[in-house]
Amino acid sequence: MVVGDISTGTDVLVVGAGPGGYVAAIRAGQLDLDVTLVEKDAYGGTCLNYGCIPSKAMITATGLAHDANNAEEMGIYTKLDVNVAEMVEWKDGVVDQLTGGVEKLCKANGVTLMEGRAEFADENSARVVHGGEGQGAETVEFEHAIVATGSRPIQVPGFDFGDDPVLNSRQALALEEAPESLVIVGAGYIGMELAGVFAKLGTDVTVVEMLDSVLPGYEDDLARPVKQKAEELGVDFHFGEAAQGWEEAGRGITVTTENEDGEVSEFGAEKVLVAVGREPVTDTLKLENAGIETDDAGFIETDDRARTEVDHIYAIGDVAGEPMLAHKASTEGQVAAEVIAGEPAAIDYQAMPAAVFTEPEIGTVGMTEAEAEEQGFEPTVGQFPFQASGRALTTGHAEGFVRVVADEPSGFLLGAQIVGPEASELVAELGLAIEMGATLEDVAATVHTHPTLSEAVMESAENALGHAIHTLNR
Ligand code: FAD
Repeated sequence: MVVGDISTGTDVLVVGAGPGGYVAAIRAGQLDLDVTLVEKDAYGGTCLNYGCIPSKAMITATGLAHDANNAEEMGIYTKLDVNVAEMVEWKDGVVDQLTGGVEKLCKANGVTLMEGRAEFADENSARVVHGGEGQGAETVEFEHAIVATGSRPIQVPGFDFGDDPVLNSRQALALEEAPESLVIVGAGYIGMELAGVFAKLGTDVTVVEMLDSVLPGYEDDLARPVKQKAEELGVDFHFGEAAQGWEEAGRGITVTTENEDGEVSEFGAEKVLVAVGREPVTDTLKLENAGIETDDAGFIETDDRARTEVDHIYAIGDVAGEPMLAHKASTEGQVAAEVIAGEPAAIDYQAMPAAVFTEPEIGTVGMTEAEAEEQGFEPTVGQFPFQASGRALTTGHAEGFVRVVADEPSGFLLGAQIVGPEASELVAELGLAIEMGATLEDVAATVHTHPTLSEAVMESAENALGHAIHTLNR
C-alpha cells in the first residue's frame, strides 16, 4: 500500500460499469453480496454513453426524417427541416436518462459506487486512482473481482483519433453538424449503421472495406439487402481497399487506399470515420499482478462460469471475447455474480442473438444451415419473404425474409436468420424457442396475431414443414 492511501474491503470488486459490470454489480447486490463498482468515466460504459444507445437514437431519428421525406407513395408530402444539433441534444437526453437510472439502480441494490481507475496490486487487492487533482487513491481488498473494462476502437496506422478530420464512432455520434462528405473505413456493423445515419442526413458517404463484402461474418443473402439499400441511399462502396492514410486537400482531406495489387486510390471527403473493429481494454489493468495472462489480442480466457485462470477473478463482456455485444456482457455479468454467490449458474451461448440496426435490420440467433451441417445435424430450412407479409407491406418496408433452421429428424429449432423490418425484435421469439427446446411444430402451431410481422416467423416454420399458407412451399 502506498503511504497516504486509504484502504477499504469488499466481497466483490467489479471494475468497469458498462452493461457487463453494472449488471454484475446489481445482481451481486440482489444476492446480498457486499459489492463495490469502480468506474473511471461514465456509468453505463460504451453501450449507454457512446455505442448502442446513441447510435440507435440517431438511427431512429434519421430514419424518421428519411421515411417522412419519402412517403409520397402514401400521399404524404413534407418539407423537411432537420436540425442535427437538436437531434444530438435529444440523443444526449436519452443517454442521460439511462445512465442516471443505472446509478440509481446500483445504489438501490446496495452497490458501493467508486469513481476512479482501477489496477490490480495483487491477487486480492486493487489500487483505485480517483480522477481530478488531489483526489488521491485507495486500495480495495477483495474476495472476488470481476473484470469488465470493455473495449475501445482499433486505431488504424495513419489515422490518429486525436486529429480533427479523423473520427471514431463515439466522435461521429457527437457531431452537431452533418459533414458534407464522409469516408468510412470498414463495412462492419458499426460502419454500416453509421453509413445509414449520415446518408440519411444528406452526407455524401463513401465506404472503403478491405474484404469483398459488407458485414463480414453474415451470410450473403442477409448482407446483400443491406448493401443494396445503402446504395439506394447514395452510399458508394469500394471493396478490397486497405486505408493507408490521409492528408489535407483544399477545404477537405484526401484518404488514400491500396488494393492487394498495390494500386493506390484516393477519395476526397470532409471527414473520415474509422470503424474497423474494437479491441479489449486489458493493457492498463496490471493484470499480471493478479496472475492473469491475456491472449495475443488482449482478451482474457474464461470458462462457462466467467472464471479466469485465477479462480476468484472473473472476466465478462468485451474483455472476454466475441461476440462483443452488450447483452452477452450482461448475461456473463449475471452468471459471474451468481457463481460468486454459490449458485449453480453457467453461460449457454447456444441461443445468443445478434442484431445489426441497418436498413433493413438483421437479427440472428443460433446456427446457420452451414453451421448445423458442420456440427453433424441434418438441417432443414424454412423461409418466408416479407413481401408476402400483409403487415410488412402496410409499413412500407417489405424487403427481406425470416429463415428458420431446424434438425430434420427431431424438428428441434437450431437457428434463425432474419433480414427485414424489426428483425432485431423478431429474433427474440426464435431465441426463446431455441432456449426452450421448441420444434418447428411448436412454432408453427403457435397462433400469431394478425396482421403482424411475427406471422412471418410462424410461416417460416410452416414452410420448413411444407405447409406455409402465404408462400409457395419447397
Ligand atoms: P463497456 O461498455 O465498454 O464498459 C467498460 C467500462 O469500463 C467503461 O465504462 C470504462 O470506462 C470502464 N473502465 C475501463 N477500464 C477501467 C479501469 N481501469 N478502471 C475503472 N473503469 C474502467 N452492442 C449491442 O449488443 N448492440 C448494439 O446495438 C451495439 N451497438 C454499438 C454501437 C457502437 C457505435 C459501439 C461502439 C458499440 C456497440 N455495441 C453494441 C457493443 C457494446 O457497446 C459493447 O459490446 C458493450 O458495451 C460491452 O460491454 P462491457 O461492459 O464489456 O464494456
